[in-house]
Amino acid sequence: MSDPSARLNLGRCPDCGRVRYETRAKARRAARRTLHRGTHMRPYACGGYWHLGHIAP
Ligand SMILES: [Zn+2]
Repeated sequence: MSDPSARLNLGRCPDCGRVRYETRAKARRAARRTLHRGTHMRPYACGGYWHLGHIAP
């Protein structure tokens, strides 16, 4: 785990392949860094972790 972003995310979900976040707050924080203006990257829960997605599952 030498990735400097490892503190923020927890790798990728084995089910859907999205980046996992430990908490909703961390997911929201990451969303602000992605510079996807105009898109709604909203956090949603998956398997006890959080993802960012355009729509709710
Ligand atoms: Zn998932």
